[in-house]
Amino acid sequence: MIYLDHSATTPVEASVIDAMLPFFSKNFGNPSSVHQFGQTAVMATDNAREQAANFFGAQPEEIIFTSGATEANNLAIIGVIKALQKKGINNPHIITSRVEHPSVLEHCKMLETEAKGPSITYLKVNKNGIIDTEEFKKSIRDNTVLVSIMSANSEVGSIQPIREIGKIIKKINERKEKDWKNANLKTRGQRPQPIYFHTDATQIINFAHVFNVDWNYIDLLSFSGHKIYGPKGVGALYARTGVPISPAQIGGGQEQGRRSGTLNTTGIVGLGAAINLLKEKEIEKNNKHISKLRNMLVSGIKTNISSAILNTDIDNSIPSIANFSFPGFDGETIMIALDLEGIAVSTGSACGAGKLKASHVLLSMGIDKEMSQRSIRFSLGKNNTEDEIKKVLEVLKLKVCKV
Ligand code: PMP
Repeated sequence: MIYLDHSATTPVEASVIDAMLPFFSKNFGNPSSVHQFGQTAVMATDNAREQAANFFGAQPEEIIFTSGATEANNLAIIGVIKALQKKGINNPHIITSRVEHPSVLEHCKMLETEAKGPSITYLKVNKNGIIDTEEFKKSIRDNTVLVSIMSANSEVGSIQPIREIGKIIKKINERKEKDWKNANLKTRGQRPQPIYFHTDATQIINFAHVFNVDWNYIDLLSFSGHKIYGPKGVGALYARTGVPISPAQIGGGQEQGRRSGTLNTTGIVGLGAAINLLKEKEIEKNNKHISKLRNMLVSGIKTNISSAILNTDIDNSIPSIANFSFPGFDGETIMIALDLEGIAVSTGSACGAGKLKASHVLLSMGIDKEMSQRSIRFSLGKNNTEDEIKKVLEVLKLKVCKV
């Protein structure tokens, strides 16, 4: 079997499993308990919290463990909006993009329909899936409170100009604050509300050995364990100190009241161990290996199937993804034909799979509906080999895209 669907999920690394195992059995305590069983568990979750915080250049208390990136994205958006509404901000405005994961996009669409819900701007992207920072600047309003732009796209791999976006927001926040401070003490109104910057970093961190929130001017960041050779069902939201978050889940007050529910100790230990794998030398080696395999795959497909259209901008994407449209062949049919040959790929994003719907990402990039439905996402991982890519090319040419 050949697995080329690493953007959907990754296998759990053996060392991560080893780290997790004792927390299923011997160290089964609840981290909220005061006794020694609980303390062993809390030490382990604190250690993972520190591992995550170090990776992002954050403080441990700024990490909120969740069930994954979907929940982290939801919490970032609804958490900030609810907290600001409680402060009396009744007309908040959010800026996001048309190519976000459904946990951002569909959530925004839902909030928009609520009676006193926020208004939302959905930024367009260019043919490579990237937003225009000038258009972004123009879309900022006086009532903008939140910007949510993903770091790397899960379907085509495009990397957004995160630091540039963060810088623009920082400058606006600083200018508003300065104007307020310089205004006449008697007449000036309430302190201005800053704009918070959220990024869904789920797809990018596998390819980085640091992703510093200060350097990128990020206030909120979501990520997930199962995309980085860790377990499923665990992830986290980084929330900068001072960013107000209303809980989406109410209960025992875990995670400083921001996300109630008994901590998933085993998963959190696995998340920490997976983050620990993201070391400079390892990442460099993996990126080089994955890029080489992707180049081989891309040039092989272009040579063998001349009608194939590459939808990924190779120069500005994470190294793992190559998204192609195959004119004359339905994406689902190719995926199933490859599966029968023991090769796993996906059409569009895995989260959208099974929906026989043109990919919203490809449509937003200006690709027509037909070509969107004829797309296949190959997403490579560190354990793939050159022989596997050769085999995929051969099967595609001889058995799948025969003309
Ligand atoms: N954001 C992005 C960019 C993703 O690729 C995914 C997973 N497909 C998610 C969020 C959701 O992550 P999880 O499965 O951890 O909920």
